[in-house]
Amino acid sequence: MNDVFDVAIIGAGAIGAALARRLSAYDLSVALLERCADVCFGVSKANSGIIHAGFHHPVSSLKARLEIRGNLMFEQLQHELGFPFKRVGIIVAAFSYEEMKTVEHLYEQGVANGVPRLEICGRERLLMLEPKLNPDTVGGLYAPTGGIVEPYRYVFALVESAVRNGVALKTEFRVVRAQHDGEAYSIESEAGHRVRARRVINAAGLHADQVSAAFGAEAFTIVPRKGEEFLLERNAAGFPNQVIFPVPGRHTKGILVIPTVEGTMMVGPTAVETEDKEDVETTSDNLDRVFAQAMYMVPVISKREIITSFAGSRPVLPGNDFYIGISRSAPHFIQVAGIQSPGLTASPAIAEYVKDLLKQDGQGLTEKAAYDPFLPPSARVREKNPAELDALMSEDPHYGHIACRCESVSEAEIVEAIRKGHTTLDGIKFYTRAGMGRCQGGFCSYRVIKIIARETGIPIEEITKRGGGSRLLLGKIPVAQGESSEQQMK
Ligand SMILES: Cc1cc2nc3c(=O)[nH]c(=O)nc-3n(C[C@H](O)[C@H](O)[C@H](O)COP(=O)(O)OP(=O)(O)OC[C@H]3O[C@@H](n4cnc5c(N)ncnc54)[C@H](O)[C@@H]3O)c2cc1C
Repeated sequence: MNDVFDVAIIGAGAIGAALARRLSAYDLSVALLERCADVCFGVSKANSGIIHAGFHHPVSSLKARLEIRGNLMFEQLQHELGFPFKRVGIIVAAFSYEEMKTVEHLYEQGVANGVPRLEICGRERLLMLEPKLNPDTVGGLYAPTGGIVEPYRYVFALVESAVRNGVALKTEFRVVRAQHDGEAYSIESEAGHRVRARRVINAAGLHADQVSAAFGAEAFTIVPRKGEEFLLERNAAGFPNQVIFPVPGRHTKGILVIPTVEGTMMVGPTAVETEDKEDVETTSDNLDRVFAQAMYMVPVISKREIITSFAGSRPVLPGNDFYIGISRSAPHFIQVAGIQSPGLTASPAIAEYVKDLLKQDGQGLTEKAAYDPFLPPSARVREKNPAELDALMSEDPHYGHIACRCESVSEAEIVEAIRKGHTTLDGIKFYTRAGMGRCQGGFCSYRVIKIIARETGIPIEEITKRGGGSRLLLGKIPVAQGESSEQQMK
């Protein structure tokens, strides 16, 4: 069995990752335990990627405080970690004078929360800010500090930085039971592996209720609130420049039109309570409903441009606020549950908040002299001009082998992702964008699979889409005589 960790974090989504990285700045031994084959395979990969401005929630809520603090931390994080993030601004568009009353309420709420430079706009000002908006708008709210981020690159970068600074990442470690022996918890995975830790943070997203039960901590029930989203291909000329929100309803921010940080566009999400935490189906009825609402706000968008759809579920608790606190029933156990939207935005502030709770719980925090907040930059072929590409290729000719044509992803980038531990097709897709373009992996999937096999030695038929039983190929792949798998790929 391992030595005793000072802290074990259960769940490597945005919350667990942000916390692991924050704690890696201190002289602590930290384990990050994740049930999936890779990090960011939970809610954190299936969301709208918006860094919310901070006007949607009342000042009395914990959410509102952590949302605005988190929002303000993104420039510094991007500077240190290099993930894609842009402060493009958010518009809430009203289409009646009744809706303008809600806009005024959002404005006052935002000002009370401390959102900088919020502005109530009349019709002309709003259309000047966003000419793609339906001209029937009567005005709205403008929040220039709203932004967009690529959520997986954000989480991958946090984990990479945490691991470089000493955090022990254990994937395929599904926590099923735990026991406290007076000194530490013995935490057991489904496969029978054990980790010991003096303090534990429950950041298990949709499964935080089960993890809490496994530790004998508070009983609560997470209700999944499913959101379906539809992704449109790159068409910069027709897309709005900022995130467009309708006037929100009681439980949802409504159907949004979201320019993504990578130049595509997203429409959604729906918000429907379900019973199944694993339900990721999307339906054509919801597609129609989502597009009717989105096209009313931004008439230039079209269903013809859809390249894919996906769904994720928000982990919701009664009361709709975040539940973050030291457990009253399990020793040295901290709950970080009910982290629905704006959890991505709030994640770096949640990490700060939980770090302070650990201190309150008696954990000493001494800064680590060798802590390095910076990640070395990764080369991305699609971001290079021809001269820069020439220079890259003279260092490594594999930058010239394009594996994914839609997103211009080279073999060298895929190899880098594999060497950083991403060895499933989805892990590579989220790290590099190979398979995220127009053809959705039709061209590159088999190439990527072969590169994974070559680099890792995993037999090709055992490579999975996302771990577990999600194998991609059935049966043996015949290799022509005298041909290596590398030759086959070319
Ligand atoms: C449709 C949709 C749109 C959204 N849009 C936005 C947005 O635009 N902006 C925003 O700020 N927020 C948004 N959110 C909310 C945001 O995505 C979440 O708040 C955030 O991702 C939660 O992160 P997390 O780390 O708590 O959860 P997760 O990412 O789910 O991480 C929890 C991890 O715990 C792991 N786990 C579970 N059980 C165990 C176990 N027993 N042992 C080990 N590991 C375990 C899971 O596999 C998972 O990886 C949206 C959410 C949805 C669903």
